[in-house]
Amino acid sequence: MVSKRLSSPRMAIIGGGAIGLASAWTLARAGAQVTVLEAGPVAGQGALAASGGMLAQGFEGANEDAGRAFVALAERSLSLWDDWAERLAPHAAAPLGYRRSGSLSPGFGSRGEAWLERLEANALLYGIGFERLDAAAARAVQPGLGDGLVGAMRFPGDGEIDNRALGPALVNAIRAEGGEVRTSWPVTRVSSGRDGVALSGPAGRMEADRVILAAGWQSRDLSEDIPEAGLLVPVKGQMLSVAPVVDLTGCIRAVDAYLSAKPGRIVIGATSEVGASDDATLPYLTSILREAAEAVLPGLSRAETVEVWTGVRPGTSDSLPILGRSACEGVVLGLGAFRNGVLLAPAMAETIRDLVLDQGEADPAFAPDRPLTALTQG
Ligand SMILES: Cc1cc2nc3c(=O)[nH]c(=O)nc-3n(C[C@H](O)[C@H](O)[C@H](O)COP(=O)(O)OP(=O)(O)OC[C@H]3O[C@@H](n4cnc5c(N)ncnc54)[C@H](O)[C@@H]3O)c2cc1C
Repeated sequence: MVSKRLSSPRMAIIGGGAIGLASAWTLARAGAQVTVLEAGPVAGQGALAASGGMLAQGFEGANEDAGRAFVALAERSLSLWDDWAERLAPHAAAPLGYRRSGSLSPGFGSRGEAWLERLEANALLYGIGFERLDAAAARAVQPGLGDGLVGAMRFPGDGEIDNRALGPALVNAIRAEGGEVRTSWPVTRVSSGRDGVALSGPAGRMEADRVILAAGWQSRDLSEDIPEAGLLVPVKGQMLSVAPVVDLTGCIRAVDAYLSAKPGRIVIGATSEVGASDDATLPYLTSILREAAEAVLPGLSRAETVEVWTGVRPGTSDSLPILGRSACEGVVLGLGAFRNGVLLAPAMAETIRDLVLDQGEADPAFAPDRPLTALTQG
């Protein structure tokens, strides 16, 4: 049994990334004593730092057969972002680059036409707000679009943020609420007992009333103690950034590449390599991404490449998060945010807060014991 003395509960959060930091801040604001244990020397350097920082509820909901549970979670999260950005701004050392200027999905040629039809059908199915634009209207929204443009879908509610500024802002905000963020503290064992949950690793040992597992794809390393973590699927992404030689009026989500403006750079993404978790960048793949981006916005061809990098998304076999209580008592799972963890962080954090404080449940679509397929190697 986990201790029921939860008036000012001690919460330990494994992982200082998008979900762990967001959860810690949300819990600290609710009066809990929070300690984030981050393996790396600096928090926020995992998938959070690697990501595109797009808050693309509309596009993501319409592009894939995402399902109603995802769309609802993403909608709730997006609705929290204005408030989050405002509250986090005073804690940010660098501009957060937050704006809600929409996503534009331009279609090129007959393939693009068919894709726009599918986006529109899914947006109607899920009740996602959109505008269907002809080519001239699309060019009015985003000047400089390439040849063969047949039209575009625009998701006006979508936004973006500088994800690299977000991590440090969250760390400062947690500390301002009295929370602790310990770095170079990899957790290697978790065991629940009568009075709580014990965590240990090379940096030491600690006990908590409740533990949140939010260590991204590397949560898998803890699957001996927390079995659900073994269901995560690493999905590597390669990305690049270029000098901001064109003015992006919002995110651009095209078929073969996306573009998002950050202070001082434009990020272009991303590959999606299921099962891969290495950090190699392959020039032929980043060249393909760059060419795809230049076909969308030819003005980018004169932009110098600033940086090339990789990150690993915490995926699941149904692409939905794992959000709920673990079979390991006292542990709540904040896993599987996959390619939308920045977007989903506020709503996942609130759900995690409600679960650890016994104040609410997660949507059953995200239940840890739903049928999920583990990744088999070889
Ligand atoms: C290329 C790419 C592009 C993306 N683009 C977007 C986007 O545009 N919009 C969006 O919303 N999402 C995007 N994502 C997805 C988003 O980044 C992830 O969903 C999100 O970061 C997942 O959050 P997390 O907290 O689960 O993992 P992470 O952010 O990776 O954080 C996990 C943390 O746990 C730490 N850790 C690992 N093991 C341990 C341990 N044993 N003990 C302690 N700490 C540990 C890690 O060091 C890391 O800091 C993208 C991801 C990638 C890779």
